[in-house]
Amino acid sequence: MSKAPDIKPAADTALQDIKANYGFIKEQVAEAMDKSGRKDEVRIMAVTKTVAVDRINYAESLGINLLGENRVQEFLGKYENYSENSEIHFIGGLQNNKVKYIIDKVSMIHSVDSIKLAEEISRRALSKNLTMDILLEVNIGRELSKGGFTDTELISAIGEIAQLQGVRIRGLMTIPPPLEGEYYFPRMQELYENLRNGEKALSGMDTLSMGMSGDYALAVKYGSNIVRIGSGLFGYRNYTI
Ligand SMILES: *Cc1c(COP(=O)(O)O)cnc(C)c1O
Repeated sequence: MSKAPDIKPAADTALQDIKANYGFIKEQVAEAMDKSGRKDEVRIMAVTKTVAVDRINYAESLGINLLGENRVQEFLGKYENYSENSEIHFIGGLQNNKVKYIIDKVSMIHSVDSIKLAEEISRRALSKNLTMDILLEVNIGRELSKGGFTDTELISAIGEIAQLQGVRIRGLMTIPPPLEGEYYFPRMQELYENLRNGEKALSGMDTLSMGMSGDYALAVKYGSNIVRIGSGLFGYRNYTI
């Protein structure tokens, strides 16, 4: 394993650091794929919260074409400066009354954590004549501090959400309890595979979004096909949002 580049504060991260970080992440992903014998594809998402547009544009110039957005307000102030080639996914907590601002600006919403939110996405998508791809967020660690469906709630929620027009369930997303990926990622993989291949399999399920800067290689080992990387790429954030 190669040595990880130093993670610097985002404000001090030179463009060269971003390039080195990206190279390292690609290597780690490839190595994890190799080790687990995977031949499919893993997409590396650049999580852009708090990151200045010029750095995001630089990441795009390196070949990153998938951006993850957390905050509606911040996103609306930045997205017009992104490359036209970038695909934009919304990954942050989303209030029902904000759906209308992003519905025609992102191509997937990873953070669908309630039936009510799915219904609002459906309504707004239909009013724009589009179908929104969504992932259901699973609170796999059953943490009180986190949103999302528990594994037991998930099955009935999927039944309801699958009936809605204007949304298409593409898969699952999770943020496991810190440092417990080795326990929770395999459980997510199992949930996902059951939904894909089980008795009542939904068609079009092809996305398992898990793994962040601290645990993406492990997530890839357990079948993740979108890893969401913020600080590992751009440097650490001085504040959280
Ligand atoms: C911030 C964030 C990430 C990236 O976190 P890092 O640890 O900085 O890589 C990934 N997913 C979600 C939902 C986030 O909010």
